[in-house]
Amino acid sequence: MKSVHLRSTISGTEYPFARLEEFAENRESLEVAIPGIENARIKQGNRTWERFAEFMPFAETHPELSLGEGSTPLIEASPLLKTYTGVENLLLKNETANPTWSFKDRGSIACSIMAKERGESMTATISTGNMGQSVAAYGARAGLNVLIFLPEFVPLEKILAMAVHGAKIIKVRGADYADIKLRALALASRFGIRIVSGNGPIRVEGYKMEAFELFEALRGDVPDFIVVPTSACGHIRGIFKGFRELFAAGLISRLPRMVVVQAAANSPIASAIHARSDKVIPFRNFTTIAEALSSGNPPGGEEILAKANEFDWLAGVASETEILESQLLYARSGFFVEPGSATTLAALRSLRASGAIKNRDRVVVVLTGSGMKDMDVVNRHAMNIVDCGIDDLERKVENSLARFADR
Ligand SMILES: *Cc1c(COP(=O)(O)O)cnc(C)c1O
Repeated sequence: MKSVHLRSTISGTEYPFARLEEFAENRESLEVAIPGIENARIKQGNRTWERFAEFMPFAETHPELSLGEGSTPLIEASPLLKTYTGVENLLLKNETANPTWSFKDRGSIACSIMAKERGESMTATISTGNMGQSVAAYGARAGLNVLIFLPEFVPLEKILAMAVHGAKIIKVRGADYADIKLRALALASRFGIRIVSGNGPIRVEGYKMEAFELFEALRGDVPDFIVVPTSACGHIRGIFKGFRELFAAGLISRLPRMVVVQAAANSPIASAIHARSDKVIPFRNFTTIAEALSSGNPPGGEEILAKANEFDWLAGVASETEILESQLLYARSGFFVEPGSATTLAALRSLRASGAIKNRDRVVVVLTGSGMKDMDVVNRHAMNIVDCGIDDLERKVENSLARFADR
């Protein structure tokens, strides 16, 4: 039997599974091909990774490398969110419940397993936030040496969050983030180290687990739409790959349609989908509060455009004002997400209003990351905070209660 290998996602060129470089020579994204996936079966087991082991390219599931990622809650949205978006059948997949508070942990455990099974002692990434923190935490658990490249503008809180796990941080002065990324990725072959980016094929394998969890939570039913805030594109293609493999194995009879959501200020993929282009539309010199979505020209993004075309995906954008509004709405319904994650509500509302999404469609929105890591932006919301001295306490409470009564 043919063994697991990598395949470029548009032209189908094959590469060895162990390849260190994350992209094909022609810069297409790579994906893991698992021969015999049609015969993969769900097994017994307590962990999702055990039950879906036959869908994964690894020899073992390595529970010893886990920090307890995944098995995140799928929750019915509140009436507030249903009314705002106009979608009745709205579910939230809460990825902020992961160990480092974003879905990135699912990709990081996959990379730890890869390193372990390949006998690699080191992992590296380039990131301004969630990715770096996640790789640093999982690297610490797996006993790997972790190297993280950063642009100089990354705020100290984020650097410390990565450094506290013991990662070695290299800050690169005076260069554009996209340039640093390309330069760093190019070091992989030179130094023989696996440098993982947000769209690497091994991380994508970890993101498949989200599809498997949705499949189980919905008892084999498939959502009509899955709404994903998108930047490097690894996450959305991982979820979709998971469903395609369930389909190949005959476990589901249709595929969900994916919805790519980006900030209007930086929408290289969403704009290309709207324009029906097969080329990414690069964005430069943009500013957006959706910092987690800052890939202005994501390598391998053409794969997403090809899939959007083939599988009839949708795309939506949110303006800066809408992102803030959505963040507040999520918070007022109990979920504190970061601005990048908050793009989804506004985009969903427009897609529903245009009729692209129907009222009864079952829609899953992924809450990708926690709001706790970006406090600056939160200061822009109106909040009820009363300052008082101890002798003033009674009067302030009386005032507050009177205000509640007025509501
Ligand atoms: C990384 C990230 C994204 C974007 O995911 P990609 O795989 O890069 O497309 C979205 N939201 C949050 C919170 C993230 O950390």
